[in-house]
Amino acid sequence: SERILPKPRWLKAAPATSPKYRELRATVRSLGLATVCEEARCPNIGDCWGGGDDGGGKKSDDDDDDLHHRHGTATATIMIMGDTCTRGCSFCAVKTSRKPPPLDPDEPRKVAEAVSSWGLDYVVLTSVDRDDLDDQGSEHFRDVVRELKRLATSSGKGPIVEALTPDFRGDLDLVTRVATSGLDVYAHNVETVERLTPRVRDRRAGYDQSMSVLAHVKAVNPNVLTKTSIMLGLGETDGEVRITLDELRRNDVDVVTFGQYLQPSRRHLPVKEYVTPEKFDEWRVVAEEEMGFKYCASGPLVRSSYKAGEFFLKNMVR
Ligand code: SF4
Ligand code: SF4
Repeated sequence: SERILPKPRWLKAAPATSPKYRELRATVRSLGLATVCEEARCPNIGDCWGGGDDGGGKKSDDDDDDLHHRHGTATATIMIMGDTCTRGCSFCAVKTSRKPPPLDPDEPRKVAEAVSSWGLDYVVLTSVDRDDLDDQGSEHFRDVVRELKRLATSSGKGPIVEALTPDFRGDLDLVTRVATSGLDVYAHNVETVERLTPRVRDRRAGYDQSMSVLAHVKAVNPNVLTKTSIMLGLGETDGEVRITLDELRRNDVDVVTFGQYLQPSRRHLPVKEYVTPEKFDEWRVVAEEEMGFKYCASGPLVRSSYKAGEFFLKNMVR
């Protein structure tokens, strides 16, 4: 049987209790929306939804505080196209089915309503994979982004939209639809190094396929920022991580995040290693200073969407 590693102290996240957390949860419920924060059992939920203290990234200084007042720190990642995925990645807690319920045609409006009621200037969307649909949900994804971009904001251009997207099985026409929808940050996760990909991700996902999706986004829309995430602690070597970073840069990927893989249940892949916070800091330095990524968020509790708005606004809007 697999050895279960004891959890180190740095992985203890604060419980979710704040009023802002309850407000977000109530809106999500009343509109029938799903969030990846809940479905993936993300440990940062109290932190992100509460817009509270720092859970894994860098400590705020005074400039950041100003940013908080202007933009608010609450981040919730809205999951579109339902809460049930057609895939079954061995690290992921989202529920799966070969034939999930049909898409909600009203979802673009509901998402925009939720975002406008929260007054967010930065929105993170994600979705399940919908291999059951002819266009794999790409048109619906595009509609959600367009609806958000119609919202009134101080900039007059709608909120900044970041979307974590499926691989669309490498169908580049479908990728184009989302890449040219008006979104600002196109995120697609490679999740792990090449060698571990078949064990970690669904068999329909592929390392090269994900690289080609990311390269294609930049090719059809050079104005969009591309972003990917890598989980550490699955048994990858430092050398393999470096090769992955190199290949991402060669495909013009701008932003990378690193987080600790956490086993959502005993049926999921076991954790091979708890990577120390110091090691996460080293990867950030490698990514930003050696490899030339525009920015990198790296820490045990960092997830693709963790403080995404803050990182974006701090690094891209000067
Ligand atoms: Fe949600 Fe992302 Fe924050 Fe986790 S890190 S609670 S998924 S916004
Ligand atoms: Fe989870 Fe994999 Fe589905 Fe994404 S594609 S929601 S990681 S099962």
